[in-house]
Amino acid sequence: MPITIMKAVRYQGPRAITIETLPTPTCGEGEVVIAMKACGVCGTDVKTYMRGHPLIPPGAVLGHEVAGVVLESRHPQFTLGDRVAAAPYTSCMTCPTCRRGHYSLCEHLFDASLEPGGFAEVIRVPKRIADQALLRLPDSLDLETASLTEPLACCFHGAEALGLMAEQSLLILGDGPMGLLQAALGKALGAAPVILSGMTPHRLELAAQFADVVIDASKQTLADELRKHLPRGPEKVFVSVGDVAAAQEALQVVARGGAVNLFAGMPKDAALSLPLNRIHYDEVVVLGTFGFGPQHFSQAFDVLATSEVPFRSLFTRRVSLDEVQETLEAASRYEIIKAVVIA
Ligand SMILES: [Zn+2]
Ligand SMILES: [Zn+2]
Repeated sequence: MPITIMKAVRYQGPRAITIETLPTPTCGEGEVVIAMKACGVCGTDVKTYMRGHPLIPPGAVLGHEVAGVVLESRHPQFTLGDRVAAAPYTSCMTCPTCRRGHYSLCEHLFDASLEPGGFAEVIRVPKRIADQALLRLPDSLDLETASLTEPLACCFHGAEALGLMAEQSLLILGDGPMGLLQAALGKALGAAPVILSGMTPHRLELAAQFADVVIDASKQTLADELRKHLPRGPEKVFVSVGDVAAAQEALQVVARGGAVNLFAGMPKDAALSLPLNRIHYDEVVVLGTFGFGPQHFSQAFDVLATSEVPFRSLFTRRVSLDEVQETLEAASRYEIIKAVVIA
């Protein structure tokens, strides 16, 4: 007997959420329908819930870090019962930016997306995503960990742009979920040492599971601590806090020949004063990355499936669909490091 109705959590505007019963998505040719089992709660979900989002209209179903089990498949590569991780979007592969290989800037990135969204019991995966960015879990990978594929793909894209290699030093400024995930990724990729600087005691405690050195910037001076551990400065830096002063500091501390990824979103009018002397004589590279391409989604998935790093310990709260609103509220008060909705 097919399931005909399902529960979904709808965003209705800032600080307004409704839990609704919707018709279960149907499975078209080349598509897959999955039962959501784990969907991470992301900073974007929290920001949208608190303040609204220019691209996310009221009525949308939030959540985009999805892992689940196949309920119905009209795609040759998937069958009933497969455990999968699904990207929320993927590139078209044919527009001018895709043809240049710059998939995260695809002009049609959001033309195909998970329907209705992650915070729902049942989700339709359109053909484009099923073709490129729906990955079957090996037995060794659990669904909760697999739901980290999307945020880790964004970090992987960032690490690739930095040219991060094993045995290089990596500094992360920011102790939010993405900063912590970057520390875990750095560890998994063999970066050494991995140093994370932040200001929130319970997050720094968790960071110690991933980073070799944890700096409490509320008590310690970054430059002094770095001098102790890395006299030449870090070779690669992620700025993963939306703070111009942190970005400025990154440009001062990065090693000669090093690179800084301004990973965190910044306010529209935020501006940086560029140390031109360092960029020329020290060949410091400043760059930014946003989102991910399908290859990053696969690479992140492989890291999660094979690494010994305890990625799953990032989740500090597991909640049901009924608890999404209170979870978004708690996350906005920084009470949660990262939550995952379990169904
Ligand atoms: Zn996310
Ligand atoms: Zn494209």
